[in-house]
Amino acid sequence: MRVNITLACTECGDRNYISKKNKRNNPERLELNKYCSREQKMTLHRETK
Ligand SMILES: [Zn+2]
Repeated sequence: MRVNITLACTECGDRNYISKKNKRNNPERLELNKYCSREQKMTLHRETK
């Protein structure tokens, strides 16, 4: 049930992180506050395909 996901910055669109999630535990899109290297600040990152 584990799938690879990409986390993209919601402000600039950069795909900064690759992760995995358990589809059963997290059926919806993940949203995490992460450091964006382009903007050099913490931004919200959302799962993308
Ligand atoms: Zn960004």
